[in-house]
Amino acid sequence: MFIYYQIRNHHYRTEAVPAVTCPLCNHRGRMQMSILQKYTWLAGPMAPSAKYAIAWCENCNQYIPRVKWTDEMDTTYVQLKQGLRTPARLYRGLWVLPLLLVLLVGGILAAISISSGNSRANQAFVLDATLHPKPGDIFQVTHSAGQENFYTWYKVSRITADSVYMQEAKEHAVELNDLDDIPATASDFQSSEKSFSLAETRSLDGMFAKDENGQRAFDLVFGVWRDGKLHKKY
Ligand SMILES: [Zn+2]
Repeated sequence: MFIYYQIRNHHYRTEAVPAVTCPLCNHRGRMQMSILQKYTWLAGPMAPSAKYAIAWCENCNQYIPRVKWTDEMDTTYVQLKQGLRTPARLYRGLWVLPLLLVLLVGGILAAISISSGNSRANQAFVLDATLHPKPGDIFQVTHSAGQENFYTWYKVSRITADSVYMQEAKEHAVELNDLDDIPATASDFQSSEKSFSLAETRSLDGMFAKDENGQRAFDLVFGVWRDGKLHKKY
């Protein structure tokens, strides 16, 4: 992560200090002194450091290096800075950073909430599709009958009062993820139909069930392909 910050100067005051003698040219009466304070700027001012002064002489046009400062200059500096208080705004950034953090965390939580909202909406959509199937719907299912388990697709061919008739895909999916490759053509599905009771589907919360080869077979629905769009439960 790239953090952009600057060191900035807060200027308090610049004063003529005519009583002070320049230690460089020994001329008296043309000295100036400024009181400043450095602070960090990162999305706002923060972390002000100690105040400091710079002094220069308008007679010799030189800044006075700190090592050349006389006691007289030090005393003048202390007098000038008396009563100067670090303004509250130099700490304003201390509020800005936590605020940004709160916004960031809030944004992440909102995104999670939206995505789980989507998944709830998809679950509701898939459940509704199993209870109110339409011709052409293709369901992604896990078929279980006794020891037998596989992933496959059922395509709705027709619906009567309480039954949905579906054609199973000729080839099964090898893995769960392969179920998203929805078989595209009519010839991908068997011509024979399986029928399921919609009343039983409702009682099983959207799972298809029927007797098959002398035992109860169940099809757990993962998603439905309807009107050119895949709606997945998980
Ligand atoms: Zn000077």
